Amino acid sequence: MRKFERHFPKQAKNIDDCKQLDEETKAKFFKEIEGITSATDTASEKQTVKDKANEYFHNNQFTGQQLTLKKSERLGRLQSWNGFINHIEPLLPPRNKDIFDKDKLESIKRKVKHGDLSAAEEIFNLVEEALKPYLIPKRPLTLGKIPKPPLTLGEIPIPPLTWCFRADTPAPFEGIHLDSLPCRLGLKYLDIQKYLPIEITPPLNIVAKIPTAFDAGLFVHWRPGGKTCHRDGCECQQKDGLDEVVIMDGLTYDHAKPPKI
Ligand SMILES: [Zn+2]
Repeated sequence: MRKFERHFPKQAKNIDDCKQLDEETKAKFFKEIEGITSATDTASEKQTVKDKANEYFHNNQFTGQQLTLKKSERLGRLQSWNGFINHIEPLLPPRNKDIFDKDKLESIKRKVKHGDLSAAEEIFNLVEEALKPYLIPKRPLTLGKIPKPPLTLGEIPIPPLTWCFRADTPAPFEGIHLDSLPCRLGLKYLDIQKYLPIEITPPLNIVAKIPTAFDAGLFVHWRPGGKTCHRDGCECQQKDGLDEVVIMDGLTYDHAKPPKI
């Protein structure tokens, strides 16, 4: 059995079954992993394979077939709240990281959990409001230089590689059972409260691609064809996965809006 398959059987099958990757590319990956000098015990070998594989995946992302999105197609995304904060916080001055009103935030997140998508809009407003004092550049104006306009949430890039889901409806969250959504997307936490639902209106000429097994990497819930599968022990009402796309760059929070139904 191949070394990668021994440690990551599901992910190896994903690579084998992925039609977005050609056979030569797949063989190159397995050969590279096979060439790792064997460690003394299984655990350290697994770690070495994991590190090498992750590095390989990172260097070989975004090679799937390019998709033509429908005219004015909007995409859905669940952004983990922690990921969002971790992305925004380093952009702020080191003082006073505690910029969010925690009680207010919790009560809004509870609303999201109960399927009230208007709460996503409240979260966006709260974030914008909280960031405002920090995002305006504090540097003094210099004669002869045009001052930079205030930085807004909308100018912050959404980190690559951005995973989004597609829907048959013009509004991606329309008719979606929110509680089942993290499971259908194979996400880490199954609790919708841990995610901020966002609707993305991609700018013209954005390059969106079908995800490959290399984009999914060691993520175990992804399945070839650009879908995810439900998590083990799932009791969702909806058993089908959702089509997904990946976007490498060109998205900012200006393209992300709270969903409206
Ligand atoms: Zn499920």
